[in-house]
Amino acid sequence: MGIDGKTRTCGLIGNPVEHTMSPAIHNFLAEKTGQNLAYLPFYVKDGELSDAVRGAHALNVLGLNVTIPYKSDVLPLLCGVDPLAAQIGAVNTLVRTKEGYYGYNTDMPGLYRAMCADGISLEGERVLILGAGGVARAVAMMLAEKGVPEIRILNRTLQRAEAIAKEVGGLYEKTRLIPMELRDSKELPMERYLVIQATNVGMHPKAEEVLLEDPAFYEKVKIGYDLIYNPSETRFMQLVRKAGGRAYNGFRMLLYQGIIAFELWTGEHVSEELAGETREHVLEQMRNA
Ligand code: NAP
Repeated sequence: MGIDGKTRTCGLIGNPVEHTMSPAIHNFLAEKTGQNLAYLPFYVKDGELSDAVRGAHALNVLGLNVTIPYKSDVLPLLCGVDPLAAQIGAVNTLVRTKEGYYGYNTDMPGLYRAMCADGISLEGERVLILGAGGVARAVAMMLAEKGVPEIRILNRTLQRAEAIAKEVGGLYEKTRLIPMELRDSKELPMERYLVIQATNVGMHPKAEEVLLEDPAFYEKVKIGYDLIYNPSETRFMQLVRKAGGRAYNGFRMLLYQGIIAFELWTGEHVSEELAGETREHVLEQMRNA
């Protein structure tokens, strides 16, 4: 569909925005669903977030994604925040209302939907989160909300893992959260874990790096879910596979956080078939980038 007087605008605000795959996701979905919508990247300079959000509203922009470094800074600029996003303390999707933008976090529902699409069920799984940054915290929140009974959080800095365990454990009493220092990974009970790799170690351009090298650790990994998607095959994933486990990257999470945002903006449900087509389209774009 060509751009005309009725085209609605959506976009991404962040700094930097040049490497985003979101336009490829949303413009493809708009075309396939027949929505008259165009999605653009908007580079927002440090100190200009408030002007950007107010300006977007004045320009009748339908929806925005928010990326680094504004996912938390944008909260006070909104007219309301979804309860899950408020708990996580970060939004990545803004939906226009008359009063202003309402904020959602589609990263965690996106991760959950991605795991389901990858055939992973959380039921009965012993879960280990590697890392204790903003994303690890949100993952712990999501897993506890889904009723996972026990979550171990392994981090280089123990205090950060402890802080997440205390906070999430305080909100979800049925989940036992166990903080551990990374170098104590040898002391993990001999179980087979679902491991979510939520650090940036191993991300492009330092793809040769990995958080843990010890082969004994990988014998305990049943499923390794790396939230990194560039490179598509991380060292962590290679080590998981070498030890006989299943491994996934974070690309599906990226895809589904976009799909859920698109659904919020347009009210259009994206079928699994269309999600698959979008996945192929974006992968093709990434190969050609
Ligand atoms: P963050 O807040 O900066 O946290 C980084 C984490 O990595 C911390 O736990 C930090 O440990 C650990 N870390 C960093 N360098 C380390 C090193 N050399 N050795 C040991 N630990 C190290 O980052 P974030 O925002 O949570 O993002 C984490 C990851 O999520 C990123 O890789 C990003 O690509 C991914 N992500 C994926 C998607 C998706 O759609 N797939 C979306 C968002 C984010 P300390 O606490 O000890 O410093």
